[in-house]
Amino acid sequence: MLRKPYMRIPYTDVLAAPTITPSSANTFQGAVAALQEFLTAPSPKGIPPSTLVLTGAGLSVASGLADYRGTNGTYRVNKSYRPIYYSEFLQNHEARKRYWARSFLGWTSLHKARPNSGHFAIKHLGDLGLVHNVITQNVDSFHPKAHPSLPTIELHGYLRSLVCVSCHEELPRDVFQEELARLNPAWAAFLREITASGALDTENPDERRRRGMRTNPDGDVDLPDAPYTTFRYPACPRCLANPPPTPEGGRAAVEVDNDGAWSAPSTAGILKPAVTMFGENIRPQTKIEAEKMVDEASKLLILGTSLATYSAWRLAKHAKDRGSRLPLPTWEE
Ligand SMILES: [Zn+2]
Repeated sequence: MLRKPYMRIPYTDVLAAPTITPSSANTFQGAVAALQEFLTAPSPKGIPPSTLVLTGAGLSVASGLADYRGTNGTYRVNKSYRPIYYSEFLQNHEARKRYWARSFLGWTSLHKARPNSGHFAIKHLGDLGLVHNVITQNVDSFHPKAHPSLPTIELHGYLRSLVCVSCHEELPRDVFQEELARLNPAWAAFLREITASGALDTENPDERRRRGMRTNPDGDVDLPDAPYTTFRYPACPRCLANPPPTPEGGRAAVEVDNDGAWSAPSTAGILKPAVTMFGENIRPQTKIEAEKMVDEASKLLILGTSLATYSAWRLAKHAKDRGSRLPLPTWEE
């Protein structure tokens, strides 16, 4: 088999409507019956009973977060949306300014969002002994919050922390957010304004404009007194105190301005969200652990995901190939 890179690349087209199997699952009662049949059916021969749940952005929609390809998904509502790629983030100070400015505004909504009944249903299935493990593509931390005792792998990492690309030290996002506010007072004032107006409660650019948040055709906020080029973000505190060694045997440069913001001549100390960005490989350890979970599963229940990211699709394919039960009698190759 041709092994493609284990990489996260967005598929942004609208997907075809799903075929519901069994056809009786097209009503609420029918779906419950089909799910019950799936969860209580005997495991395939030779595989110990263990049900793994694989989830995606669809599960977090009821928490108020946008999915990507759903009716009100990011790729449909905001046609010009384009996620930042890891290489761009790593190489380009300007791209990072823009990323962190957007992220600074977006964090408040995510931070106040909570797991929903879908996450708690998985917890209950775990309590009943019907679900044993969870792999999620979501980076919102809702699974570990809703069911801390049910083992969960966050395949694409988590937004609750930052990680330094040089020393790999993690930093809580709350602390980082306060630093962004301190370094960018005009943005902090703007954030207070648009939080009060409710502009951040919607992803629809027209609705946001009506609530005082003007965006340009790229979806960028139009803040005349504080352009993206002036946005500042902190350096990794550990690398700043003790610059990491370079392969040549010297020390990397970590320079900051008077307020502690990372500045351009630096060659290390860049903080990134602790998520797998588009174009970035999944952490090797996470990949191994996820494959092990799939290997141990007799059944795989896929929720709230179209499996449009290769890393998640590959896990489902792996489960199917080894004979696990999937609630998809007709799996298209
Ligand atoms: Zn560092």
